[in-house]
Amino acid sequence: MKLKKFIEIKGTIVCETGLRIGGSKDDIEIGGMDNPIIRHPITREPYIPGSSLKGKQRSLLELKNGKFNQDGRACACGECDVCKIFGSLKNEISGPTRLLVRDAYLTEDSRIWLNEARLESGIDFAEVKTENWINRKTGKAGTGGLRTQERVPAGTRFKYFATLRVFEGDDEQLFINKIKEALSLLQKDYLGSSGSRGYGKIRFEDLTIDGKPVELGD
Ligand SMILES: [Zn+2]
Repeated sequence: MKLKKFIEIKGTIVCETGLRIGGSKDDIEIGGMDNPIIRHPITREPYIPGSSLKGKQRSLLELKNGKFNQDGRACACGECDVCKIFGSLKNEISGPTRLLVRDAYLTEDSRIWLNEARLESGIDFAEVKTENWINRKTGKAGTGGLRTQERVPAGTRFKYFATLRVFEGDDEQLFINKIKEALSLLQKDYLGSSGSRGYGKIRFEDLTIDGKPVELGD
C-alpha cells in the first residue's frame, strides 16, 4: 500500500460540563484525591489522551452501525470502514490504521484562565467534587459513602488534532464522512466518565479538515 497524503483535522474541544478522565492514583501523595484526573506529569495540567478520544469515537460509530459487542471489545473484522479508520489486529486485511488522534492539551486561553483560578483560589486546574449517596428511606445523605473526585471545570478548552492517513485506493471522502459522523456523535454523547450523571458534555468549535471549515450536522 502506498501512502498518498495526510489530512489534518483540527479544532477546539469545549467542555460544556465538567470532564473527568481518570488518572492513576499511584503518582499522587498520601492524603490526596481518591479519584484524580489524568495530568501531564511535569506541568500537572490536565489533558485528554488521544486514546480516549479515539476509543470513544470508534465505539460510538460501532454502536451506530449496530456492532455492539457483548464482551465490550471493538470490532475485529478488519474489513469494515471502522476497522480501516481506527485500526485492526487483522491489518493484513484492513491495512494500516488511518486515523491518528493526538493528545489534546489546553488552549492558551484556558491555560491562563486555570492558572489565574489557581492563584486566586488554589484550584489545581480541576474542581474537586464530593459525591454523596442519599438514603432513600430518610431522604438524608448517607454516611460512609462519601467520595471525592476531580474533574476539569466546565468552560475549559482543549486543542483537538488528528491526522488521517490516505493510502492509494482509499475512499477519502467516505473516511472523512465517517470521522465527521463520529465527532458529531461524540457531541451528543459524552467523553470520559460519569456521562449519565451529567459529566463530559463537549462540543467542537472551529473545526477544520484539510484547512477548510467544517460544520458537524446531525
Ligand atoms: Zn470491523
